[in-house]
Amino acid sequence: MTTVTIIGCGAIGAMLAYELSKTELDVMVIEASAKPAMGATSAALGVLMAASSSRARGVLVKLRLASLSKYDRLISELTAQTHRDILYNRNGILNLYRSPDAETKSRSLSEIRKRQGFDLQWLDREQIAQDFSQWKTDGGLLSPCDRAVHPTQLVNALVEAATQNGVKFLWNTPVENLENISSDRIIVTSGLSSNALLSPLLKNHSKYAGQDLMQPVAGQALLLHIPNLNLKNVVHIENEDGSDLNIVPLGGDRYWLGATLEFEPNKLPNEANVSLLLEQAIAWCPTFAHAEVLETWAGDRPRPLANQSPILGFVPDHPHILVATGHYRNGVLMAPVTAQITKDLLLTGTSDLPWRPFTL
Ligand SMILES: Cc1cc2nc3c(=O)[nH]c(=O)nc-3n(C[C@H](O)[C@H](O)[C@H](O)COP(=O)(O)OP(=O)(O)OC[C@H]3O[C@@H](n4cnc5c(N)ncnc54)[C@H](O)[C@@H]3O)c2cc1C
Repeated sequence: MTTVTIIGCGAIGAMLAYELSKTELDVMVIEASAKPAMGATSAALGVLMAASSSRARGVLVKLRLASLSKYDRLISELTAQTHRDILYNRNGILNLYRSPDAETKSRSLSEIRKRQGFDLQWLDREQIAQDFSQWKTDGGLLSPCDRAVHPTQLVNALVEAATQNGVKFLWNTPVENLENISSDRIIVTSGLSSNALLSPLLKNHSKYAGQDLMQPVAGQALLLHIPNLNLKNVVHIENEDGSDLNIVPLGGDRYWLGATLEFEPNKLPNEANVSLLLEQAIAWCPTFAHAEVLETWAGDRPRPLANQSPILGFVPDHPHILVATGHYRNGVLMAPVTAQITKDLLLTGTSDLPWRPFTL
């Protein structure tokens, strides 16, 4: 039987393990930490924004939509198999705007998405005020098909289901060197640490300039308790300066708010930015002034430098090693389609999905 070793158990490694657990392959996952989802995935808000993503067309959009389309069934399957609670918001995402051209842009995006099979509804200020009277907005785009999932609960369920299906997991086992792994196939899903694991394999390649494949882009977020906000949908806000915010309802008047986007290399995330997030939210909805901050945290998103996101496919000159990483701001959203493409590559050498192979 073909043996496959997956390195790293974040959203991508766990989703792949689960997907491969349904095949004849003999799968093992090696994870540096004592438990799953301790990297970028632990910081993520789990917003699955594909239909209302402002980018209208292109390969990435197709992949995002394909990935989103897999989620409802995936969550039902996992819940049925593991009986675990996975917080999964099916109420859609409400995108709020204040820019004068938001309605025109939203209506044209709606036309495109309609042809792709996704419904978007423009709501003007009066319609929004019916349910969201506390919010200061000019209008909004409701995307009933977009979702949100609790990333850690998702990964825990994936690990449990994959284990039941025969996948072996090794915890507390950091891989130092891929050459020490004896397996027919190796798949590197170790997020930002893939830089260090892959650089020895790439350094003799004429097109490898010796720079990292990915850079960390820090993000900070908060857990808030806000009585009387009464949000059922995820709310996505686009600020006038182009930055954006997500508010994710968790139940019991608790919400995630995030996330900052911090590019400065080798610098700790800026503490002041946490207050800035809250100030921005208050500017849209004064009820946030009554928020109690229960928790704050930070994580690093794996952002490709020379490649487009995500980095997928066979490692040049090493046909038994594949990589699936570099998902930047959308790793939770993109996990199902990434797992599908990687499985296709393992089983057939190619995939019908519109993926872009990893090149240097
Ligand atoms: C603040 C914030 C908010 C975000 N919000 C969203 C969101 O709303 N929606 C969304 O889709 N995405 C979001 N993201 C992005 C998302 O978190 C990432 O794209 C995704 O988690 C990447 O998953 P991964 O499995 O590739 O990496 P990781 O989660 O980093 O997992 C990599 C794993 O590999 C392990 N590992 C590393 N090195 C080794 C080694 N040598 N040997 C063995 N194991 C190793 C690590 O311990 C880790 O468990 C957010 C990110 C941040 C920081």
